[in-house]
Amino acid sequence: MIIIMRSHVTEEQIQAVEAKLNAAGLKANISRGIERTIIGAIGDERKLHQESLQALPGVEDVMRVVKPYKIVAREWHETDTVIDIKGIPLGGKTLQIIGGPCSVETQSQMDLAAQGVAEAGCRLMRGGAFKPRTSPYAFQGKGVEGLTLFRNAADKYNLPIVTELMDVRMLDAFLKQGVEVIQIGTRNMQNFDLLKEVGKIHTPVILKRGLCATLSEWLMSAEYIAAGGNHNIILCERGVRSFETAYRNMLDVTAIPVLKKETHLPVIADPSHAGGKAALVAALSKAAIAAGADGLLVEMHPSPCDAWCDADQALTPLELKQLLQELRPLAKAVGREL
Ligand code: PEP
Ligand code: MN
Repeated sequence: MIIIMRSHVTEEQIQAVEAKLNAAGLKANISRGIERTIIGAIGDERKLHQESLQALPGVEDVMRVVKPYKIVAREWHETDTVIDIKGIPLGGKTLQIIGGPCSVETQSQMDLAAQGVAEAGCRLMRGGAFKPRTSPYAFQGKGVEGLTLFRNAADKYNLPIVTELMDVRMLDAFLKQGVEVIQIGTRNMQNFDLLKEVGKIHTPVILKRGLCATLSEWLMSAEYIAAGGNHNIILCERGVRSFETAYRNMLDVTAIPVLKKETHLPVIADPSHAGGKAALVAALSKAAIAAGADGLLVEMHPSPCDAWCDADQALTPLELKQLLQELRPLAKAVGREL
């Protein structure tokens, strides 16, 4: 950390900063210039509270020099993390397309969806049994029963399941059903108690980006999970809020290469919740893969116009299959396979 003192700073004020650094186990390197005195904090700056230094008399500015996140940072772990999901790698050369409906509805809907996911060539299936809806009057998901419907359908095609956990009280039900990947949704990206709980287990977690979260905030949320001991984290860019109303969210394609530089964790994209329209899914999928995404989360419904949730953005089983076909040459062009 670098502490810049105000002009006309007194010797006592400099000493007070030094005392504060020493108390946190750090050393002060004091550089007295003609106009300004600058103090370099030597040691683990994560132990320092930037605000409490900033509040000291005579301090003009305090700047961090290391990242606030550690376990998830690429500077601590240079090689890409590859997460093993029941033998399926996520984060390596092979791209993973996770397909499935927005929500679990009925057994026959899930059976047809699982068939479509498998026939399209996807190796993992998504589907929400607990739905975070804007309106309390909208369908809230099938709940625990939905997990069973999902499990039954996915097992027929040997597909590991990805499903959203909204409430820590449901974690036992998820573990009982052997959910292979827990999704933490956009609205819960900063639900720190939930993050701490999934940090205590080893089940892989897909952490979606908050509606208006910065990359640093998002990585700090991932750090919450990692700090508990669970390093099986996949980041999912699903679009952020913007001023535009022609589509649902703005897919932040730039975030993908930035994240790949900042973190060793796999990064996937969700073109469905970004575009909000089925017709936009293919283009956004291609953009995400070209930008370096390790996979996609794509909504597909056996009969989109009958979907109970997010009908507008669901692909048909055939469209999902065609999407994978279109993505194969692109994957090859960027040194990946599908
Ligand atoms: C979902 O994937 O079903 C979902 C609700 O997504 P998000 O949290 O990105 O809105
Ligand atoms: Mn959805």
